[in-house]
Parts: sequence; C-alpha cells; structure tokens
Amino acid sequence: MAVLDKYAALAQQYAGLEAAGANPFNVPFERVLSPTAAIIGGRETLLLGTNNYLGLTYDPAVIAAANAATQAAGTGTTGSRIANGSYGSHQQLEAALADFYGRKQGMVFSTGYQANLGIISALAGKGDHLLLDADSHASIYDGSRLGYAQVTRFRHNSPDDLANRLRRLAGEPGEKVIIVEGIYSMLGDTAPLAEFAAVKREYGGCLVVDEAHSLGVLGATGRGLAEQAGVEADVDFIVGTFSKSLGGVGGFAVTDMPGAEILRVVSRPYMFTASLPPGVIAATEAALHQLRARPELRQRLNENALRLYRGLAGLGFELGPEPSPVVSAIMPSPEAAFGFWAALLKAGLYTNVSLPPATPKGLALLRSSVSAAHSPEQIDQAIGLFAQVGERLGLLGAPAFAAAK
Ligand code: PMP
Repeated sequence: MAVLDKYAALAQQYAGLEAAGANPFNVPFERVLSPTAAIIGGRETLLLGTNNYLGLTYDPAVIAAANAATQAAGTGTTGSRIANGSYGSHQQLEAALADFYGRKQGMVFSTGYQANLGIISALAGKGDHLLLDADSHASIYDGSRLGYAQVTRFRHNSPDDLANRLRRLAGEPGEKVIIVEGIYSMLGDTAPLAEFAAVKREYGGCLVVDEAHSLGVLGATGRGLAEQAGVEADVDFIVGTFSKSLGGVGGFAVTDMPGAEILRVVSRPYMFTASLPPGVIAATEAALHQLRARPELRQRLNENALRLYRGLAGLGFELGPEPSPVVSAIMPSPEAAFGFWAALLKAGLYTNVSLPPATPKGLALLRSSVSAAHSPEQIDQAIGLFAQVGERLGLLGAPAFAAAK
C-alpha cells in the first residue's frame, strides 16, 4: 500500500534479517526465568541486554507490593489523572521520589519517554530556546518537536560548545532550557556535569538532567550523576524512568522550582494519557525502597560493570570511553554487528544491536547491559562467549575495529 512505500528499502533489510533468523529487533522470550536468564529459541539464555540494572524485577518485596495493590485497587486506573482522578498511591510515590531527591515536588508520568516529552515540551515552548546534546535520546528530540522551541544542538559532552551557543543566544528573547543525560545509553559515557553546571551558572538557563541510566547506578545514595558530581543544586529538573534500575515502567520528574504544579495542566504527555496502574505504582515505590535500603546492589552492579568492561577491553574490543553498566563493543559494520549478535544468541547469550540513527557517529554497536543480579561467573561466561565467537568470526582484536571510528 502506498503509505508504506517510503519504507520499502528498510522493509527489505528487515525481511532479510527475519529470513536469516537473526532479527535483533524482535526477539521472542519464550519464558523469562529471572533477571538474568530466559528461554529463547528453546534454550536457556544468559541475559546481558535488559537494562535491569539492580535486578529488582523478581524482588519478593516488589512483587508482593504489586500483587497487594492489584488485589486492593484493581488492574488499571482507566484514565488520566486530570480527567479521572489520582489514586493516593500516585501521590505517595511522587512524595517518595521528592523525598529521595530532597526536592519539593515529584511528578509521575506513564513512561520515561513521556516524562521527557512532557517536561521538555512544557519548559521549552514557542519562542524559547532548547539546547540539547547532539547525542540525546530520541525522547528528548521528540520532546523538542512537541514544544515548538528553537532547537540548538551542542557537541556531545562539550561544555565549551554549550557556552559558545549560549553566548550567541545572549540577548535573544525566550527562555534557555539545557538538557543533558547522566549516562548516555549507547556508549555508557557520563556527562561532564560539573562543567555543564558551571556554564549554566555563568550564562543562566534552566538545566534538566535525564538520569534514566544513572538512577540507582551513580552517586553516594544512588540518585545519579548530579549527586555524584555534587551539583544537584544547579539542576532545576531531574527526569528519569522506572523501567531500568526500578524494574518497572513509568517516568518521573522532580524539582524545587516554585509554581511547577502548573505542569500538571500544561504538559500534554501527562494530561492526555492514562495514569499508571496501582500494581506498577506500588511496585515502583517498593523498588525505590530497595534501592535506598540496599546500597550493596549498586556496588555489585558497578563491580560487574567493571568486570565486563575490563574483560572485553582485554580481548581487544573497542568500547565506550569509560566503564559503566552499559558496555558497548564497536563493530566494523551493521552486518558484523548482526552476525556477532546472532552467533552470541546461538551460543546462549542475549545482547543488543544498536544502529544509527540511535547511535552516535553512525556507529554499529553490540551493546550489553549489566545487572547487580549477575554473578561474577555469569559475567566471565559472557566474556568467554565474546572471545569464542569473536575468534570464530575473525572479529577479535582492536585493529579490526579501527575502520569504524
Ligand atoms: N531517556 C533515556 C536516556 C533513555 O535511554 C530512555 C529509554 N531507553 C528513556 C529516556 C525512556 O524511558 P522509558 O523506556 O522508560 O520510556
């Protein structure tokens, strides 16, 4: 049909992956066994591509909270908070998030994607300026479209480039909203947040940090990069998700900004969608409690991350610039990434393929993410499978990857 003709070339590539039985974008998990194992293609597979950073998806207290809330309040809210009411548990979770971050206000969205859409579009509207890192997540780019602000992209992780751009915008009407991420989801690198905060202090503007991949991972109490960098006071809004360290689904924003309550009636992705079901809200609050009460999860996660990063670097893979729970091996081509991914899966290891436009610099990535629930032996097993498959495919050793840079 004509409306789909524009996707013909892509559809052909996609069909090719399906035909080869190696489509990394549509993998059926026949049965999930634990945060680190599932049955895929009839065999037990080690999961190394789930974003389940703290491994809380099977936590007994989290599951019990979800079950109890579902029994008590039903499966869904069947509507948006502004039209159909807020349950006490929504407000309680918002208060718990605000308390965790030491902020006055918390706001819960139905996904992390919508939290970015809702906050960015509401803060940076028509006539305002949105300054975003060139490697921003799709939800940040999409939020910029929804708000109609003038968008300025600055070089990835470059406070100097941000400063230049703010200098050029000085004197122009409109608010300046700056957004960066804690840990970037493709290569696992962190933002130089102290430097960004200094730029904000010098030139002004509203600073938003998306801590989707850094909540529960970084900071003395797991609040994220702003906590680790000691610049929480410079950050006006923290945005995040429940779908990674908290093991559920949903998103949030916290702030001290006076008057932020108005966002509930101007933020369209908050207003025009159903609120999260009671079970999800209760599970998230229980997971947040676990995150706060068990710092050893964060420690184990970061030990596993370092183990995988060192192991793959030792094999000669070219990785992101620093160890983090996201460990991506740069592949020489998308075809190499597909081949490597499929061979790993066949050998019992599930990872992710990430390709442009989601990736920076047009890179093809074989992306892994580590969990606190992995044992050191599982991490070593994964490294062993990378070694085996890499050798078999002739993809071991740094020189093979030089071409991709
Ligand atoms: N921000 C970033 C940086 C992300 O990586 C993601 C998801 N990968 C999101 C926001 C969206 O979160 P969610 O999947 O919970 O919608």
